[in-house]
Amino acid sequence: MMIICGHHQKVDYQENGEGAYDLAFLPRGKRMAGTGSFSEILDGENNVYKYYSEGEWRKSVSGKSVAIVNPTTRKTQYKVQACSQAEVNKVMEAAKIAQKAWAKTPLWKRAELLHKAAAILKEHKHPIAECLVKEIAKPAKDSVTEVVRSGDLISYCAEEGVRILGQGTFLVSDSFPGNERTKYCLASKVPLGVVLAIPPFNYPVNLAVSKIAPALIAGNSIVLKPPTQGAVSCLHMVHCFHLAGFPKSLINCVTGKGSEIGDFLTMHPGVNCISFTGGDTGISISKKAGMIPLQMELGGKDACIVLEDADLDLAAANIVKGGLSYSGQRCTAVKIVLVMESVADALMEKVNAKVAKLTVGPPEEDCDITPVVSESSANFIEGLVMDAKEKGATFCQTYKREGNLIWPLLLDNVRADMRIAWEEPFGPVLPVIRIGSVEEGINHCNASNFGLQGCVFTKDINKAMIISDAMETGTVQINSAPARGPDHFPFQGLKDSGIGSQGITNSINMMVKVKSTVINLPTASYTMG
Ligand code: NAP
Repeated sequence: MMIICGHHQKVDYQENGEGAYDLAFLPRGKRMAGTGSFSEILDGENNVYKYYSEGEWRKSVSGKSVAIVNPTTRKTQYKVQACSQAEVNKVMEAAKIAQKAWAKTPLWKRAELLHKAAAILKEHKHPIAECLVKEIAKPAKDSVTEVVRSGDLISYCAEEGVRILGQGTFLVSDSFPGNERTKYCLASKVPLGVVLAIPPFNYPVNLAVSKIAPALIAGNSIVLKPPTQGAVSCLHMVHCFHLAGFPKSLINCVTGKGSEIGDFLTMHPGVNCISFTGGDTGISISKKAGMIPLQMELGGKDACIVLEDADLDLAAANIVKGGLSYSGQRCTAVKIVLVMESVADALMEKVNAKVAKLTVGPPEEDCDITPVVSESSANFIEGLVMDAKEKGATFCQTYKREGNLIWPLLLDNVRADMRIAWEEPFGPVLPVIRIGSVEEGINHCNASNFGLQGCVFTKDINKAMIISDAMETGTVQINSAPARGPDHFPFQGLKDSGIGSQGITNSINMMVKVKSTVINLPTASYTMG
């Protein structure tokens, strides 16, 4: 494979018998997944990671495993258990019982355990980051950042939960016409029960804890189904919760392919809430799931509208970072640029100059552009590129692919009849449409079936506000690329981009229900000051 990233250093590391790996990015002594504190999560005999049920790491009776292919080497990197339906049933039953006791555990105690898990997670950032590099080809530094950010999310969630769950509402009855003050209503927030958490491959640790931490602080138990690519990172993260000393069966993690155990999990009668992040799978889950609260974070086609008065250097920097970080495999990546014709040439010159500086190669070397998650994903991206080529898009760079590695590519003069104008490539390919008016840009944005985020670049705050009002998306960023986070900001998608709102506070509130107790008094009660 040709690599234009820096020096590709091989480090011979034999301790776990896995042979030579490029681990130069990991400090010595902090290297290996599945060793040291993590050795009990690996069935060393068969080299298969175990699943987590009833507070223990177990081998599946199915005797089957699922292979996780390293996107860079395209060889099997890890294996996880293919859990059986009977094992899922057992987990659900145990999670239900554990939740009842957890609901009685004081809030401060729940928070204390979460803080402990956050600290353990951060302490083990290197072996977990190693898994992210090997399973999803995330650049090494970003992998470490994902783990640290996840620890911070857990801690913030613990603190927010203590504050907001400690407060209920007290209502008096005579504020409604015709009523005496004979009724007092005490409304409090109580847990939902068992929360099924299904994160996607691109942020397997962060998007798992963004479901686990709110669920736990709110008094729920968790069944986690990690993505296949990212499962081993998730298992290591779950072990940090295990080491923190949470009660057994409160947190569980079953592994297996979504296409095989997904329906069984999402339609399971023991599930009281589903928190899902991913693609169109979420739409079919929402049709199959029963009468339970759903939190769905799905795909996006985030538009970046660039007006004539925009700071073009700022816009170019954000388009490149927002569109191509982690090779475009982010839900909130800039997925279409809508630029006013009069500044399009100037903008594209700046964008292309920045693209030329991006490094392309393996995640271990922290390259900007790394292989996309799978061969099927690379094939899908290539299909979008070829469709645009046939229909006459301007290629700003030469299209180049080796295995799952796709070189960054800007497609200029894209038109509405091209698939790339509407579909989410989830790769380092960014389409640009030149627009004659702001309305044209807004119309394109609103004609999308997605509505996650959007952004606008202008120096005129009034224009920015008018565009923000007009864009049918969950969030509009003014003068910055779309992004999820900071993690306490509300985060939501409209249309096919999701159901409900995330962000720490909103997620905690979503994972509780309101319970009212009404005290009926024989005579009206007034406090006379
Ligand atoms: P995906 O294919 O939809 O998979 C997401 C999760 O669903 C994985 O854990 C997957 O497991 C599981 N799954 C698959 N089939 C299932 C079924 N029938 N029932 C239950 N679960 C099932 O998405 P992805 O490729 O991992 O992630 C990329 C997508 O996620 C993109 O569309 C992106 O925009 C979106 N995303 C959205 C957000 C957001 O916040 N809005 C954030 C990140 C990503 P397996 O891996 O085992 O198949």
